[in-house]
Amino acid sequence: MLSYRHAFHAGNHADVLKHAVLVQLLDYLRQKDKSYWYIDTHAGAGVYSLQEGYATKTSEFESGIAKLWSRTDLPAPLAAYVDEIAALNPDGQLRYYPGSPYLAWRLMREQDRMRLFEMHTTEIDVLRHNFRDAGRRAMLYDGDGFEGIKALLPPPPRRALVLIDPSYEDKRDYTRTLHCLEECLSRFATGTYAVWYPQVTRLESQRFPDQLKRLQSKNWLHVSLTVSRPPSGGFGLFGSGMFILNPPYTLAAALKATMPWLVKTLGQDQDAQFQLEYRGD
Ligand code: SAM
Repeated sequence: MLSYRHAFHAGNHADVLKHAVLVQLLDYLRQKDKSYWYIDTHAGAGVYSLQEGYATKTSEFESGIAKLWSRTDLPAPLAAYVDEIAALNPDGQLRYYPGSPYLAWRLMREQDRMRLFEMHTTEIDVLRHNFRDAGRRAMLYDGDGFEGIKALLPPPPRRALVLIDPSYEDKRDYTRTLHCLEECLSRFATGTYAVWYPQVTRLESQRFPDQLKRLQSKNWLHVSLTVSRPPSGGFGLFGSGMFILNPPYTLAAALKATMPWLVKTLGQDQDAQFQLEYRGD
């Protein structure tokens, strides 16, 4: 039985990092006319209200997207991301926040395809509702994304971005992500794979970046945004990271231009920092 609901966390600092990187990855894919597939193994509900329901109970978006919303000095890569949030809130009030499937849908072209997995019975219903008019370009699967993705690789156009974004509330998600990536690389070595992970005090989270780096010796990028020192009680998210296998060559420069600004804007104490590492071809 899954209990995690992303709506509690929609638009928080971790979503900002994840979705800003996602927009960069999709923008790069769109530079060539050739079609691509976007595969989201852990899709969530697709769109979240920030004014009613779960998001209002935690208001995590206040220390995330809300801090970027009215800024006029956004670095260009962040402006591209905030533009997508603005498109969902045309009257200028921050009422809705897009999840990864919605961001990817907005950026997709006629020739591109999307495949979404979601295992939570309520979330998949909401996702289906949100994508009710999408037609055959978007296929939604009610099931385990770690398993289901295997049957989709390699995708017909041989160009794809895969987002693996579990909640990690179950610590087996760390090893499942690693095994899933090994399997994916054996089927489709040239795909771009983006993995989100949380910075929390548990050992699995701390050793995860090094385990990810061992998947392939080159062609990866790791970026993390730490917003505060680890909580004294040991419980809670104090940052997050994105690990990209086969990233576009433009991503490192875009993040160099972005991360210092994000630390200044979303940092909560003196321990706020970013890390950016990459190995090229
Ligand atoms: N990717 C979404 C976004 O950025 O908007 C957020 C996804 S949320 C962090 C993780 C989601 O994965 C939850 O909705 C949860 O129900 C779902 N989930 C958990 N285990 C899963 C699995 N094995 N396969 C597919 N979905 C799963």
